Amino acid sequence: MNTKNRALTLVSIFLLVGFIAVSTLSYWSARHTLSEQIVSEVVPLTGISIYSKIKEKLMAPIHISSLMAQDTFVHDWVHNGEQEASKMQRYLAEIQQRNNAITSFFVSEKTRNYYHPNGVLKQVSEHDAQDNWYFSVTESTQDYIVNIDLDTRDLQSLTVFINYKVIDSDGLYLGAIGIGLSVTSVKQLLDDNNLHQQFFIFFADEQGQVMLQSNNYLFDKQPIKTLEDITGLAAYKSQLLSSENSTTRFNFANQSAHVNSRYVPELGWSLMILHTDKPWDKRIIQPLLLNLSIGLLISILVIAVVFYTMRRYQKELERMAITDKLTGVANRHGFEHLVNRLFSHKNKKCTCSVILFDLDNFKQINDTYTHLAGDKVICDAVAIVQGIYGKLNTLVRWGGEEFLLILPNQDAHAAAAIAEKIRQTIEQNVSLFDKQSIRFTASFGVSQWQYHENVDQFLLRLDKALYSAKQQGKNQVCVE
Ligand code: GH3
Ligand code: MG
Ligand code: MG
Repeated sequence: MNTKNRALTLVSIFLLVGFIAVSTLSYWSARHTLSEQIVSEVVPLTGISIYSKIKEKLMAPIHISSLMAQDTFVHDWVHNGEQEASKMQRYLAEIQQRNNAITSFFVSEKTRNYYHPNGVLKQVSEHDAQDNWYFSVTESTQDYIVNIDLDTRDLQSLTVFINYKVIDSDGLYLGAIGIGLSVTSVKQLLDDNNLHQQFFIFFADEQGQVMLQSNNYLFDKQPIKTLEDITGLAAYKSQLLSSENSTTRFNFANQSAHVNSRYVPELGWSLMILHTDKPWDKRIIQPLLLNLSIGLLISILVIAVVFYTMRRYQKELERMAITDKLTGVANRHGFEHLVNRLFSHKNKKCTCSVILFDLDNFKQINDTYTHLAGDKVICDAVAIVQGIYGKLNTLVRWGGEEFLLILPNQDAHAAAAIAEKIRQTIEQNVSLFDKQSIRFTASFGVSQWQYHENVDQFLLRLDKALYSAKQQGKNQVCVE
């Protein structure tokens, strides 16, 4: 791999690794922040919101039940020996209708009769487990208890009962009265807050039995029965059920999960809000993808800029390496390129001649007119070649004041004619430097490239031709 490619590969690796590292770091940081935010804000706030909505929902029925418990009609009717059950029946029916309740009821402590809008339903008994709620109300120190009919788990018929104690002006306990409302509205509340399947919300009783739950996105959408059905949560069961409000982080199926527990005294249940971190949450993934795309785009742009800059510099360096600074024609390194370019498809039948010329007594020019004047003379000699041959792309500055002019498709005869023309022009030329006129001459060796010889052999012959010209008195053309 060359230096350029290695540098490019390194730059690409640094950029890509850098961007990926930064993106990954910000992804983890965003994940952490989101998770923290959910634990410290979203989950507890959802808990408060649901709790207050439930209270709101229960408030009106509790108020109605409280009014019923204080109603003098009820007190008088009981004191009058519960005559004419139809009166109580009508009273209950009216309350039910007026308040759009599912049911309304009164259970008398004296007769244990269960009054209902349709009449006397039954007599409550200590021996019937279904009637336990009544005795709980009787024994309760509170004014009322909220009870949910759990005999039927069919949510459509599930009812929330507000059981209010009826106590007369003398403080005598007369029974329990109240209304029942549909539980579906509470269930709806849980589902509404389960927006975007962010949460799994449920109520757990003191034993950890799951009483009411939102549609869940966990457990294959199957309703769960107890808190222990949630793997990883069993260990926190007593902590969650005993605290008024707490948030616990736990591991659920290799995911980080949080549960907020809030005790709802009106129901005697704990409201649980469960949230599992989603590593592919679009709030984290979208910025990650954006980061990565921007990183990739910038990397590509930077790599392209580096690539083109390096290529330009490399070309410039290459050009400088094969170009003579003073005259702008090819130097000795350039000769190799030139030969390769001209004879790459080395057509053996191709005729080619070369002129090698050297300025005569140049040392003397330098000594007489200064080195700078010598430079001017060299440049003038190049300009003369251009004037005669028309172009400089096959001219090579072979040494200090020595030049090679390659003439493709020219035989020795034609090359000698060109050399002679150059020689004459140089001879007649007057170079001007610092108001001084400088005259100079040059000697020429001309030779035609033979098919069988290599470059070194050919150059040797050419050198000999130039040597002959010098030997024979300079300022002349000698053909080898
Ligand atoms: P001859 O006729 O035998 O070629 O004699 P000469 O003096 O031209 O040959 P010689 O090789 O003795 O001298 C060449 C001189 O050219 C020596 C060197 O200082 C000078 N020279 C080489 N390169 C440059 C250059 O770039 N600029 C100038 N001004 N002089 C240069
Ligand atoms: Mg010379
Ligand atoms: Mg020389």
